[in-house]
Amino acid sequence: MGRIAQTDGLTDVQADILSAVRTFVDKEILPYATELEHKDEFPEAIVEAMKEMGLFGITIPEEYGGLGESLLTYALVVEEIARGWMSVSGVINTHFIVAYLVLQHGTPEQKQRLLPKMATGEVRGAFSLSEPGCGSDVSAITTRATQDGDDYLINGQKMWLTNGARAGIVATLVKTDEGAESVYRNMTTFLLEKEPGFGTHGGITIPGKIDKLGYKGVETTEMVLDNHRVPASSILGGEEGRGKGFYQMMDGVEVGRVNVAARACGIMIRAFELAIAYAQQRRTFGKQIVDHQAIAFKLAEMATKVEAGHLMMVNAARKKDSGQRNDVEAGMAKYLASEYCYEVTTEAFRIHGGYGYSKEYEIERLFREAPFMLIGEGTSEVQKRIISRALLKDYKLQ
Ligand SMILES: Cc1cc2nc3c(=O)[nH]c(=O)nc-3n(C[C@H](O)[C@H](O)[C@H](O)COP(=O)(O)OP(=O)(O)OC[C@H]3O[C@@H](n4cnc5c(N)ncnc54)[C@H](O)[C@@H]3O)c2cc1C
Repeated sequence: MGRIAQTDGLTDVQADILSAVRTFVDKEILPYATELEHKDEFPEAIVEAMKEMGLFGITIPEEYGGLGESLLTYALVVEEIARGWMSVSGVINTHFIVAYLVLQHGTPEQKQRLLPKMATGEVRGAFSLSEPGCGSDVSAITTRATQDGDDYLINGQKMWLTNGARAGIVATLVKTDEGAESVYRNMTTFLLEKEPGFGTHGGITIPGKIDKLGYKGVETTEMVLDNHRVPASSILGGEEGRGKGFYQMMDGVEVGRVNVAARACGIMIRAFELAIAYAQQRRTFGKQIVDHQAIAFKLAEMATKVEAGHLMMVNAARKKDSGQRNDVEAGMAKYLASEYCYEVTTEAFRIHGGYGYSKEYEIERLFREAPFMLIGEGTSEVQKRIISRALLKDYKLQ
């Protein structure tokens, strides 16, 4: 570990957790990641070890069986894991968001029942906003829940569920109060409990996995809801949660954005490590390529971008941990880290010359993983909407 992307002011517990995760990544993830990724194989053994380490319950309070750690600890762990293999961080990401939603917005009964099972990783979470017709524009969702006696019947189609197959709980945003005056008060989050796996269970069908450019190993799925009957108690926050789904999910997405920034940092740290090693091995025109100033300067630019992304990610996490809203900081961190990740990974790829295009070199995998950072938890354009709107409020001319 070199001098970039270090974090000052960590507690002993945070430092111990990170050191254990770093060793785990070096020994148990990095040596296997590329082969599993090329085979698009779920990292079963890695995930089992992560359960043992308590990583599924890292932010869940101790009273529910978790480690009770902060968003910052979580984000730094994610950064480490993504340095090993971004897909593995994806296994805990949606799970972490759902646990956060239950903790922040759930009823006491939902917390008692779900969080202990989530803390061990026995039950895993997926998070579903997107539909075939919309992603950025959440208000355009068409999946609908209609009341039927004490129950609700849910109909519609959801898209892009990370961990959709293996999840036992899917936090799902749907339309409810049709005709409500604000479109944003017309949505409710349901905690849909389902059997893990593909196929149809009750009114839920998980058809199969989507074949992707990268982010392999972790299944991304659709979810079809056909007259799926659920009790009113499955609304996040109970009856009081009705009509609050949009705000609850945006709260979840805010912590999710810190997480994507952390994943982007993990990928670019690894891309930088590979590039600086390769640049000292490859020779052209009688010297190591790192001795061509054009290459050395690329490395300087890459390290600067890694450092900037890391610092903004840490800043956004610390702001949330201090109890403040971090919508702008999380948006900025996600935007900057994902764009830099794409640039740093591309430069690392170019430094590898033709070998970067070979599947034998790890950079080929990172090069396919980086673009998803630009999309997940809101594209760069969506982050810029959030940032610019907040700025225009702050700097409004009187
Ligand atoms: C691998 C993968 C995993 C995913 N996992 C999940 C998941 O677990 N749960 C979930 O709910 N979703 C998930 N998603 C969906 C993801 O959140 C969306 O793809 C993303 O929000 C973008 O939505 P979209 O694809 O519909 O693009 P669109 O919203 O159709 O956007 C298309 C383009 O238009 C731009 N654009 C849109 N609106 C504006 C605007 N107002 N101004 C300027 N430009 C604009 C966008 O930036 C983008 O470039 C996943 C996606 C992928 C690829």
